Amino acid sequence: MKTIDHWIGGKPTAGTAQRTGAVFNPATGRQQAEVALADGSDVDLAVQAASEAFVSWSQTSLSKRTAILFAFRELVRAHTDELAELITAEHGKVLSDARGEVQRGLEVVEFACGIPQLLKGEFSDQVSTGIDSFSFRQPLGVVAGITPFNFPVMVPMWMNPIAIACGNTFVLKPSERVPSASVLLAELWAEAGLPDGVFNVVHGDKVAVDALLDHPDVAAVSFVGSTPIARYVHERATRAGKRVQALGGAKNHAVVLPDADIDFAAEHLSAAGFGSAGQRCMAISAAVAVGSAADALIEALRAKATAVQVGPGVEPSSEMGPVITQEAKDRIIGYVTSAESQGATLVVDGRAIEGDALQDGYFVGPTVVDHVTPEMDVYRNEVFGPVLVVLRAETLDEAIALINANPFGNGTSVFTGSGQAARRFQREVTVGMIGINVPIPVPMAYYSFGGWKDSLFGDMHVHGAEGVRFYTRAKVVTSRWPQADTSRGASYSFPTSS
Ligand code: NAD
Repeated sequence: MKTIDHWIGGKPTAGTAQRTGAVFNPATGRQQAEVALADGSDVDLAVQAASEAFVSWSQTSLSKRTAILFAFRELVRAHTDELAELITAEHGKVLSDARGEVQRGLEVVEFACGIPQLLKGEFSDQVSTGIDSFSFRQPLGVVAGITPFNFPVMVPMWMNPIAIACGNTFVLKPSERVPSASVLLAELWAEAGLPDGVFNVVHGDKVAVDALLDHPDVAAVSFVGSTPIARYVHERATRAGKRVQALGGAKNHAVVLPDADIDFAAEHLSAAGFGSAGQRCMAISAAVAVGSAADALIEALRAKATAVQVGPGVEPSSEMGPVITQEAKDRIIGYVTSAESQGATLVVDGRAIEGDALQDGYFVGPTVVDHVTPEMDVYRNEVFGPVLVVLRAETLDEAIALINANPFGNGTSVFTGSGQAARRFQREVTVGMIGINVPIPVPMAYYSFGGWKDSLFGDMHVHGAEGVRFYTRAKVVTSRWPQADTSRGASYSFPTSS
């Protein structure tokens, strides 16, 4: 059985902890590796390595840092297929989707290649006679990233390229279900010329996470995962005095207005609901059909959902792979069953999907549930599977009120032919990322990604300008170089301009 080790101080290490976790192939249900699970002393070693590396990395010139980022970008590009294969083997998503995830991660590296421009400070000449003022930003120190199973490459790459470009050193604790891609990323960073200790990987579960949250030498924590854990991470790490951004779960609504192109909307909702088996934080999991749009939308969704090709992610014909674990499969089926018993109508039922290649893996078929109401469990919880529920609203106002009453606020979209309706929607919803006739509005790397309400704890989003701010802190300098004959005496009153 293959063992997946940590990566500390520029090399693989098994660590001292005795615990390991099983890594499964979700398409076959078979264990394919075991991963070392760190304890506090393994985490401490990684933080120590990162602390030592910070001393010189934070002093490394912008041009040297940038050269390494460009080299890393080329290496990730060259290893896209290898990364995608690791993602598919451990997560289950189809290979084309996995390659797309690597591409979105690469865009953050490309953004970080512009760090000299992004870190430029401000300068004001002659703020008072003979006095100049300027600001600049400096790295925080050792920063940690704790990431979920559903994007083994993209989510870590929302964080580490920017943190490292800003002069920090990084300890990544990836999801223990999908550990391999992080180790390949560590190897690529090393090959790109990143000094040992600047990027470290510790595998593990709650034990490793808690050790990072409590460690006095970790200055900041970026977390992405479910809402209960995001809330916990935010509370515990801020109590320990750290800067924290903790992105949580989602319930993303797509509103379909009667003036929308219904077939276009259904096609995009199907892709956004069932792509990656619904295991995306930006997946559309609730469609809100307004007025006369409802019946036509249901019929179009029925056709699209039944046409989705479900199969192992490595098969080129597959459009949708398995879900991550047997427990996830059971949870998803449980929510569908509860919806049926609470009065919803099953339009497409994916609970008992059949096929030779699907017998042993954790497959759930695309599922469409109509006449769902806000009280039902399938709506009140994040299902995180290929289940699209449809709610009905009389008006756009009613649809917006529904979205705003939901505790999550990650993403949402509206399908309409009306610019006026779209504008009202974008201004009135209490959600962080909004699509207009775009079902999954994931911002480009040079914008920032993050939700509102229970989808984000902390006040800074990831990547883009907010990412640079998160991983740096500002200094403002007021400077005077007096000449002997023009210097004036000090004053005991508060300094003002003169
Ligand atoms: P998760 O919360 O179970 O795990 C996330 C990370 O936290 C993992 O590294 C895990 O090891 C760790 N963890 C798990 N339980 C813990 C505990 N009790 N104490 C401390 N650490 C713990 O999430 P997941 O199942 O891996 O990922 C799916 C979730 O992530 C979904 O809710 C999804 O919406 C969310 N997500 C959100 C975004 C976003 O940008 N908002 C992006 C991707 C995924």
